[in-house]
Amino acid sequence: MSESELQPLDEDGVESVLCVVAHPDDIEYGTSAAVARWTDAGTRVSYYLLTRGEAGIEGMDPVQAAPARADEERASAAVVGVDRVDFADLRDGTIEYGIPLRRLVAAQIRRTRPDLVLTLNRHELFGPGRLNQADHRAVGLAVLDACADAGNRWIHPELAQDGLEPWHVKVLAFAASPEATHYVDVTGHAERAMASLEEHRLYNSALPQDFPGPREIVEMSLRGGAERVGDPEVTHALALEVYVR
Ligand SMILES: [Zn+2]
Repeated sequence: MSESELQPLDEDGVESVLCVVAHPDDIEYGTSAAVARWTDAGTRVSYYLLTRGEAGIEGMDPVQAAPARADEERASAAVVGVDRVDFADLRDGTIEYGIPLRRLVAAQIRRTRPDLVLTLNRHELFGPGRLNQADHRAVGLAVLDACADAGNRWIHPELAQDGLEPWHVKVLAFAASPEATHYVDVTGHAERAMASLEEHRLYNSALPQDFPGPREIVEMSLRGGAERVGDPEVTHALALEVYVR
């Protein structure tokens, strides 16, 4: 198996996972397959969304889109065994990297005490010619820093004053990164990832006609991950850029 480009993620000691993303649907383009695997194994997983994705539907006013998309996210989460979905209610499309964002994420890390924190690609590109989005970049970078902040009593001292004691995150992972290093074998869990993306009914129905459907896009992403593993037993894999802290 030495031909594999990606190393298996060592999940030993990972009993709790926190997924931090900008928008409803960010977790459902493949990551939710790993979430299904983890919750099936008894790992506690929760979601923290910085916005309700209210700027994501061209033909719908954000006032209506916000609650509708939050409901779709909760339904998606339930499909893969997640019942805790928290929203920070920042304004969609305008998330800024900075100390307040780091503090928000560090506070959620201390509240939920995850061993592994997972977010989306923080790089400018998803791959050659494929631009990443502003909120994803800001959130990804803030999550990177917030994992360190969460363990340091003195960076946001007001958090401990509010009863949120320091917490040390063991593993930090970025999905959809062009610099993937590891993978999670999600063979047998792709179906639920597809079902979780299908729960974004309003959002999916507003996408352009030529945009691939939920099943096709999840299959493509997880098959692509598996091809980089090079083990015929692994038909679906989530590729991740991983740092063990
Ligand atoms: Zn997004």
